[in-house]
Amino acid sequence: MAISNTGSILDAPVEYLKGVGPQRGELLRKELEISTFEDLLYHYPYRYFDRTQVTKIRDIRPENEWVQLAGTLINIYEEGEGRKHRLVATLYDDTGKLELIWFQGAKWMKKSLQDQGKYIVFGRISFFNGVPNIAHPEIEPINSETSVAGMQPVYPTTEKLKARGISNRSFAKITQSLFEKVKPGDLPEVLPSDILSEYRLCSRYQAIRWIHFPDSNEHMEAARYRLKWEELFASQLMIARIRMQNTIQQGWKFEKVGEYFNEFYNKYLPFELTGAQKRVLKEIRHDVATGKQMNRLVQGDVGSGKTIVALMAMLLAMDNGFQACMMAPTEILAQQHYQGVKGFLEKMGIPVALLTGNVKGKDRKNILTGLADGSIPIAIGTHALIEEKVKFSNLGLAVIDEQHRFGVSQRASLWAKNERPPHVLVMTATPIPRTLAMTLYGDLDVSVIDELPPGRQEIKTIHRNEMRRANVMDSIRKEVDKGRQAYIVYPLIEESEKADYESLMAGYEQVKVFFPEDKYKIAMVHGKQEQELKQRNMERFVKGEANIMVATTVIEVGVNVPNATVMLIESAERFGLSQLHQLRGRVGRGGEQSYCVLLTGNKLSKESLQRMQIMTSTTNGFIIAEQDLAMRGPGDLYGTRQSGTLKFKLADIVQDAGILEQTRHAAQRLIEKDPGLTAPQHQGIRNILLQQSQQSKWSKIS
Ligand code: ADP
Ligand code: MG
Repeated sequence: MAISNTGSILDAPVEYLKGVGPQRGELLRKELEISTFEDLLYHYPYRYFDRTQVTKIRDIRPENEWVQLAGTLINIYEEGEGRKHRLVATLYDDTGKLELIWFQGAKWMKKSLQDQGKYIVFGRISFFNGVPNIAHPEIEPINSETSVAGMQPVYPTTEKLKARGISNRSFAKITQSLFEKVKPGDLPEVLPSDILSEYRLCSRYQAIRWIHFPDSNEHMEAARYRLKWEELFASQLMIARIRMQNTIQQGWKFEKVGEYFNEFYNKYLPFELTGAQKRVLKEIRHDVATGKQMNRLVQGDVGSGKTIVALMAMLLAMDNGFQACMMAPTEILAQQHYQGVKGFLEKMGIPVALLTGNVKGKDRKNILTGLADGSIPIAIGTHALIEEKVKFSNLGLAVIDEQHRFGVSQRASLWAKNERPPHVLVMTATPIPRTLAMTLYGDLDVSVIDELPPGRQEIKTIHRNEMRRANVMDSIRKEVDKGRQAYIVYPLIEESEKADYESLMAGYEQVKVFFPEDKYKIAMVHGKQEQELKQRNMERFVKGEANIMVATTVIEVGVNVPNATVMLIESAERFGLSQLHQLRGRVGRGGEQSYCVLLTGNKLSKESLQRMQIMTSTTNGFIIAEQDLAMRGPGDLYGTRQSGTLKFKLADIVQDAGILEQTRHAAQRLIEKDPGLTAPQHQGIRNILLQQSQQSKWSKIS
């Protein structure tokens, strides 16, 4: 995130600061990865104790509200044994009192609190027998020192650091001594001056200083605004550069539509393509014939038929003497694609390989050899496909399906797979809200499959209390007795979570009660099964041998059984909106009316209830995606967290959509004017980008 000139004071080890020393230095390094002055500078507070913003205890109203209080602490005592052990204290002001409770770290907390001491306290209110309390509040003594500064920073820290005496207060002192050493000249401006004035941004030094020690709310806001701006600008610049590069990047030319494509189209394509599919295919064909590298995103709701489009694009690659690969985010989905694609291509005598983390030993070696010598033209797999060791003889096209986990940088790593980068086709089932698209796919051209295959009916979605399970099961049985198939899905957020696994097993037993085994066949699939068993069970359902599939979310993407018309989702409140939508997309794939039942407990949070209402009111993936983003924030949406693409220190692409727009325009204009960022006034920002790419966030892009 930062520029550091060698020999700069910013590189000085954090130990050199007053109040740190070797031991604390070691701890800061281990716990927070802070080892230099610079690291500490960019360790921003996440809130402030603002002594002018204090609520009176009397005015505390709703449960769950975050409040800041000030008062005197009395009655500090420990109680309870073992896991119930806790520290309790009473805080009072001139209007009332409340309890503060600590379950963890009671011992050292007790040591650090002073009876009759004056404190400022921040936390979330709950009520017990009508008495308000706060568990694990943030707490800060009020004394003459703190009262000088208006706003006291609160830093992200860890229990261990607190236990070792780096309380929030001492943290603030350390940063204070940091600013005695770091001068404005050590933090030169990186944004061009015309941008600073156009968007009214404060200077870099000012911003970093104010974010730690704001002397007013306005300055704190100004600092955060400026720093968010810089973050988003850097990422938009990177995207603008990739876009620019795309327009000049030499690509492989797929000049002809040949035998493979035509044979498939005429002999094996089992249905007529929809108008939307034809249009998108045409766009792809146009792209790959230009001599430029294609970077295209295909958006289409679940069931819109993206796979076949991808397959035909791969055949086009083969027609022109190239290999193609298709990458999926999960093992199961890769398997599914593999089965599907192989089903088609085997008839045409085309070898297809499956490459995932689970393919090992000799099999793996053979595949790697086949890809390297070109004898395997088509590979399906997970991200194992883009590992350094996997060499292709002549990769011309890479399809990334259900990509949520592949950000701009991962895509860029594909580029090195051939002398010229292969064409890239990204397929996404969840339509992507605009702000997210700008950050995640800003470098791509977009095609939309906005039409479902003919004969599909809208899925009817119902929300039911789990007390009515028997009732629901009766309705499902009626469908099954008509010859349809049903999914019953259990949450399994972490494959390793024992409780989830147990509830799946209990659920399975329960399903057997409603669907006696002498009459109904039930298949079960979950992440703990051996690959082979999983596969077999899946196949039983796919082939119609099983009436019911009891499963975890492993069926979320991929599985395609048109005869399945019912989906029951257990504990639906535990799923996110996009996930529910994805799951629901497993039904409604044939011509029959399909149903989705969301079963939940009866005590739902406001958010859960809202999610259920959204699900029952629309099947439009785009609306759902927007709502999901608004409700959850981009954080772990689409699994993008690990991709790093949306990892901003301060910016939030939903809340800061306005800044995102601004930075996008500014970045585009700048790159048009100075594509290489070689002008002297662009050195600063260029350094920032360089540093980011060194941190491999944007590797392979120079
Ligand atoms: P998704 O876009 O969710 O990946 P799939 O590619 O899995 O959708 O397609 C969903 C189902 O629709 C599959 O059974 C597929 O064979 C079928 N399908 C795709 N295109 C058509 C079409 N044009 N007409 C009829 N069925 C189609
Ligand atoms: Mg798909």
